[in-house]
Amino acid sequence: MFRSVLVLGEIRGIRMQIHVSWLIIFALLLLVLGASFQHQYPDWSAATVMVTAALTVLVFFASIVAHELGHSLVAIRKGIPVRSITLFLFGGLAQLSRESRTADDEFWIAIAGPLTSFALAAIFHLLALALTGVSEPAAAAAAWLALINFVVAVFNLVPGFPLDGGRVFRALVWKVTGDAERGMRAAVAGGKTVAYLLVALGLWTMLAHGNVLGGIWIMLIAWFLLANAEAGQQGFNMQHRLAGVLARDLAERAAPTVAAGTSVADWVEHDALGQGVRAALVCQGDRVLGLVTLSDIRSRGRKQWTLTTVDQCMTSRDALVSVGPETPALEVLQLLSEKNLNQVPVMEGERPRGWIDRERLLRLINLRMELAEPGKGS
Ligand SMILES: [Zn+2]
Repeated sequence: MFRSVLVLGEIRGIRMQIHVSWLIIFALLLLVLGASFQHQYPDWSAATVMVTAALTVLVFFASIVAHELGHSLVAIRKGIPVRSITLFLFGGLAQLSRESRTADDEFWIAIAGPLTSFALAAIFHLLALALTGVSEPAAAAAAWLALINFVVAVFNLVPGFPLDGGRVFRALVWKVTGDAERGMRAAVAGGKTVAYLLVALGLWTMLAHGNVLGGIWIMLIAWFLLANAEAGQQGFNMQHRLAGVLARDLAERAAPTVAAGTSVADWVEHDALGQGVRAALVCQGDRVLGLVTLSDIRSRGRKQWTLTTVDQCMTSRDALVSVGPETPALEVLQLLSEKNLNQVPVMEGERPRGWIDRERLLRLINLRMELAEPGKGS
């Protein structure tokens, strides 16, 4: 299978990875920076230009990782686990496992990235001063790194979601109004405005300056911001509507069951084909032994179905993924998508308390969202 990310390792439990699209921006930056050094310092040898440009670009990406680590370490301090930091075409992305619970947490997590970049800009500026007259390439690299980190910090502070400034803006509106939803709406509106302004800037760059590549690049960033502003709003709505909903509120009380020892052929005929059941708990009396699904039996040849029992194909209880009645609905949803499951049993100790089916869960979420949006008929 083709993997689009390359995992580099882990820092404090955070998976560090590079997306293939990052190679494009790496190569592009290398070319642009190499050309710029060559133009500025014509007496440098080709090797000096190449090595300086390559090292500078690598340190720049390390700075982006530091920016994302800034967000991540504050998030972890606020009790929000961070899954991964990914470098990709548009920079870096720290994937937090959930939204902040308070406006203050949101503010500090959001501002930590730009603050890190400002600090790096200051450090590289001092380095550039110290290296002047010592090593021209090192001083030039430090000066460029100071400038680019400053630009990263300032651009990220633009008040439009999903940029850091949008998150800061959201936290401020949330803090002032006490309404997280209003904060999100304002930040998303800001994000869309920024995106449309960037589209205009991209067109202007192309038409008035004849800089086609630069224009396309700016419009790509605009498109990225627009798509993420939308996605952020939807994810937020979902989290907001599901707040306080627990697994037991969503579970169907009667989980489909099948007695241990039943042949696969019988289960398929009566339950699967007969009643449209796609999975069942394999039980012996009151005890749950495991879970059998259509994909489990599909891996066995049709001819063996009469000779095989459901407990021979099932996922046994120890390996079975289940949730408790008090598990928040959001966690159930994350579990289903992370493990790519179609259903999950709700267990209280060893006793089955119900069953959550992915399709049913998504239907219920849609229903809740429709009911929460006035003026939208179904
Ligand atoms: Zn950031």
